[in-house]
Amino acid sequence: MADKKAFLIIDMLNDFVKEGAPLEVPAARGIVPNIAKRMKDARNSNTSVIYLCDSHGKDDPEFKAWPRHAVKGTAGSRVIDELKPEQGDIIIPKTSYSGFYNTDLNEKLKSLDVDELIITGCVTNICVLYTSVDALMRGYYVKVPEDCVAALERDDHLFALKQINKVLRPRTQKQR
Ligand code: ZN
Repeated sequence: MADKKAFLIIDMLNDFVKEGAPLEVPAARGIVPNIAKRMKDARNSNTSVIYLCDSHGKDDPEFKAWPRHAVKGTAGSRVIDELKPEQGDIIIPKTSYSGFYNTDLNEKLKSLDVDELIITGCVTNICVLYTSVDALMRGYYVKVPEDCVAALERDDHLFALKQINKVLRPRTQKQR
C-alpha cells in the first residue's frame, strides 16, 4: 500500500539561484539552508529525494517568454553545489512548469509507493504551484513548507501558498 513520502526539490539550479543568473530568483538564496536541513531529515528517514530540473533545448519555445536558462548540459542547468544530489537520489529533467508534464515522475512515485509529496524550491507561483496542482489532481497529498520555496514577487508567493496549502485542502493534508 502506498504510504511513503518523497521530498522534491524544484529548479534549485545555478541559472535560478546564483547572483546575476539569467533567471535569478534572489529569494531562492535565502531558502537554501532550510531545504538543506529538511533534505537531511528526509534522507535520515529513508524518504526518497527527487530533483525536478529544468533541462531545455537551446531554442526551447519557453525562451520566448523567459530569458534563456537551464539549457541541457550547461553549468547553469546544474543543481547548486549546496544542495547537490547524492547517490541514490532521483533526478528528473523537465521542460515545462509541471514536473509531471512529459516526464516519468508519476511512474517513479508509483514504483516507490509514494503517496505524499513535500515540495520545495522555486518558483513558488510557477513550477512549485503547477507541480503541486498536478500532484493533487493525481491524488497525492502535498505539503509545501513556506520557508523552502521562493518567488520573484511576495504577492505571487503568498497567493500560490494559499492556493496549495489552504484553498486546495483537505487533499493537501494527510491525517496520520
Ligand atoms: Zn524553464
